[in-house]
Amino acid sequence: MALILALFQTTKNTKSTKKSLPVLRVLRGKRKYLGDSETPIKILCTSDTHVHPGHLDRFLKAARELRPQLLIVGGDIIPDWKGSIEASIEPHQLWVRNVLLPRLREFRTTHKEIRVLIDLGNDDIAAARPQMEADGGGDLDLLHMRVIEVSENLAVVGYMAVNPTPFLIKDREKPDCRDHDGLSEGRVARAGYVTYSGAATPYTLDFSAGTIEDDLTELSSAMEGPRWGKSSFIFVCHAPPKNTALDLTQSGLHVGSLAVRRFIERWSGTRRLILSLHGHIHEAPWKSGQAWQHVGDVPCFNVGQTPNMLRALFLKTDAVPDSARLVTVTREGKVTVAGQGVWV
Ligand SMILES: [Zn+2]
Repeated sequence: MALILALFQTTKNTKSTKKSLPVLRVLRGKRKYLGDSETPIKILCTSDTHVHPGHLDRFLKAARELRPQLLIVGGDIIPDWKGSIEASIEPHQLWVRNVLLPRLREFRTTHKEIRVLIDLGNDDIAAARPQMEADGGGDLDLLHMRVIEVSENLAVVGYMAVNPTPFLIKDREKPDCRDHDGLSEGRVARAGYVTYSGAATPYTLDFSAGTIEDDLTELSSAMEGPRWGKSSFIFVCHAPPKNTALDLTQSGLHVGSLAVRRFIERWSGTRRLILSLHGHIHEAPWKSGQAWQHVGDVPCFNVGQTPNMLRALFLKTDAVPDSARLVTVTREGKVTVAGQGVWV
């Protein structure tokens, strides 16, 4: 898969938004976790908003109140699942065109200084993505297999494929690693459909499309290269790392990705990967009692998701994990920021 290096268009809107840009506190002569970046930023992120059709609006409501510099939605965003891949293609395309893009356009009319990084997850139909690609760099920036520049010394690295699930192989499912394909537990589906062509095409999972570990090696190479070699970065990855508090299912299984865990461990100790954001396993915080943990020295989060109340994470990049807070938004639109350490 070709790695696309997307430049975050920080200069594009500078003129028109100069007055409304937040004043970023410059930390000098003080130990910082954020590599050599001098511009800590506030981030509001969520994922798995497909669990309720109102969650996108609730997330944007929280964004209007909390005023982060960056919004991140890490996959599984389209609520119109129709029970089969074939039947879901058109509703997913319509949702992107008639709901997602107009809502983001409306939001950024009044909040042009807040950038939106978003992408589809394993439950979203890939045939709906070309419409989002057409808007890339406008009201949204896509995440999957991209390195997005946030500031001179801070990037976001995105990855949305997941190791195989027990249900039905879909667009964004891949073998995990060459030495651990993620199929060996015998609890996963091997056959299903992909929709990249716009129609549901039968597909059997094998190594021909590469592994998650292959893709993450490619992203690591980009972060070692001349452009990004000194940058701090945030990893936004739909699948959580394997055998953590973040990948525990209702039935007590750890179903996260070993490749994702290896990627985080590979960057642990470098002081460059400052934060790792995950979703996919909605129930993990209640099963494990935790919404975050360190993998090596990297703070990794999965705040989970529920249909009744939107759950999101709010933090400042110069104080991770201390600044991290759970944000909830009720169906009535009430935004609450929980106290430190309150996750369930
Ligand atoms: Zn998912």
